[in-house]
Amino acid sequence: MPTSRRQILAGLAGLPLLLGKQPAWAGAPGQSGKQSLASESASVVIIGAGLAGLQAALLLKQAGIKVIVLEGAKRVGGRVYTASWLENAPEFGASQIGRSYARVLDLCRQFNLKLIPEDRNLLTMASHIRGQWVNAADWAGSPVNRMVGDERAVQPALVGSQLMGRYNRLEGPTDWLDPAFADLDVPLNELLRRHGHSPEALNLANLSATGNDALSASCLSMMQEQTRGRLDARFGNVELGKEQRPYGFDNIRDGTGLALINNIEGGCERLPQAMAAALGDSIRTGKTAAAIDLTGTKAVVTCIDGSSFTADRVISAIPFTSLRRIAIDPLPQGAQAEAISFLGYAHTTRAFGTIVEPFWDDGIDPSFYTDGLVKMFWALQKRPGDSHHRFMVVMTGAAASRIDQFAPDEGLAMIEAEIARVRPSAKGKLRFSGIFGWQNVGLIGGCRHMFAPGQVTRFGKTMIEPFRQLHFAGEHTRRADFGMEAALESGERTAIEVMDQVG
Ligand SMILES: Cc1cc2nc3c(=O)[nH]c(=O)nc-3n(C[C@H](O)[C@H](O)[C@H](O)COP(=O)(O)OP(=O)(O)OC[C@H]3O[C@@H](n4cnc5c(N)ncnc54)[C@H](O)[C@@H]3O)c2cc1C
Repeated sequence: MPTSRRQILAGLAGLPLLLGKQPAWAGAPGQSGKQSLASESASVVIIGAGLAGLQAALLLKQAGIKVIVLEGAKRVGGRVYTASWLENAPEFGASQIGRSYARVLDLCRQFNLKLIPEDRNLLTMASHIRGQWVNAADWAGSPVNRMVGDERAVQPALVGSQLMGRYNRLEGPTDWLDPAFADLDVPLNELLRRHGHSPEALNLANLSATGNDALSASCLSMMQEQTRGRLDARFGNVELGKEQRPYGFDNIRDGTGLALINNIEGGCERLPQAMAAALGDSIRTGKTAAAIDLTGTKAVVTCIDGSSFTADRVISAIPFTSLRRIAIDPLPQGAQAEAISFLGYAHTTRAFGTIVEPFWDDGIDPSFYTDGLVKMFWALQKRPGDSHHRFMVVMTGAAASRIDQFAPDEGLAMIEAEIARVRPSAKGKLRFSGIFGWQNVGLIGGCRHMFAPGQVTRFGKTMIEPFRQLHFAGEHTRRADFGMEAALESGERTAIEVMDQVG
């Protein structure tokens, strides 16, 4: 008799903890993982050991189902990646855990991972637009601000998300899939035109859209995330207004429970590492799936090194950017094939470092947003005990793609030179520790999925339907959640899908 979802979730609490017995695959990048035999079989083969694949594997293992997880990289965790070898151990990927992250919070509890309030509050933020500086407090009345009416109050870095938010009619986390909202499956540029916004608002929205730009992303896709984020912010009935700043909320840590935003002590990557440890020798790192044969009663996954894995069911827990490089026989058809080949992805590149000496004696706010090469420079508040401020340069969309064209050292040198050019007072006062761009990670190819205009309507619902013995997980197959929760949600859904199909 198949195990019920409730039994499995309850049972997860009992998974053995192997932390402390560090397996080879949990090590630093570059270490080699466990080698598999040339041919193996399991009830379920999962491709990808990000949070989605790991969650599916944990649930199936708990149900007594034999799973093998194939991970192309030498490490598990995918987009959860703590750069522990860099100064201040920055997070290249996910770090923020909201209070409504039921699955992440539950896993942290099971694996004894301590949650700590995030310490990444921004110092105030100026804007550098068309070569001119404007502090946040002066923006609404500045002649540099060419927007009109109530647009003028919106800071340049927030024009995309805040103006879009005005027209976001979604209330529930799955509303985005309701055909009643299909009129929002359009580019931000079109939405803002429809509502009569000024040319300058359109221009700034293009630079600051949460997708890559105001043309290539669907508002519905961005609104799904925005709506889920609003639910998270409301969770726990905290009075957010008190702490609101132009660029968001101060993190609330009142000692009575979870903060608004939490991190995992020691780095977010400890979560996938703990999940993988609980899976023991089910994980095969260094195994890049190249082909999936669905023509027989059993499915066969073949890796680039020639090894093959036979299973009753296969879960693809990899981004479509990677799945589209795998030879699937027979090919999925129609809208699902279109989704695999053409689902959009957004880009993020971040550079990290330490502010050796404050440079804001030039009268300009410490953090800044520019319409040039460097999109956002976040000067971060000192944490208790910190001797220096940290900083993060956050580039998204075309700005990320521009830097990602270059080798990391070259990219960093360009960013440093550009900051020194636009903000001479910062010259020589920043110590860069590293840079990381997600579209350059071959097995992932982007920061997150981002439906292009029209794609939600065409295949948002149907793209996750199982195709023969193949099931689809990963953050891009979310229904209701976002971020890490979306990956876990999808792992849970596919585990339940395959449970009925295997013995
Ligand atoms: C910069 C950044 C910041 C983020 N910040 C947050 C945050 O603060 N909070 C939050 O909740 N979320 C955040 N996220 C989102 C979160 O990281 C992701 O939603 C989640 O980790 C995705 O998990 P996944 O399992 O779907 O995919 P992935 O993590 O991408 O896992 C896919 C895995 O599959 C492997 N793979 C790919 N192709 C193959 C193949 N052919 N064969 C074998 N293996 C393969 C990859 O190597 C990878 O390990 C952030 C993401 C980024 C990039």
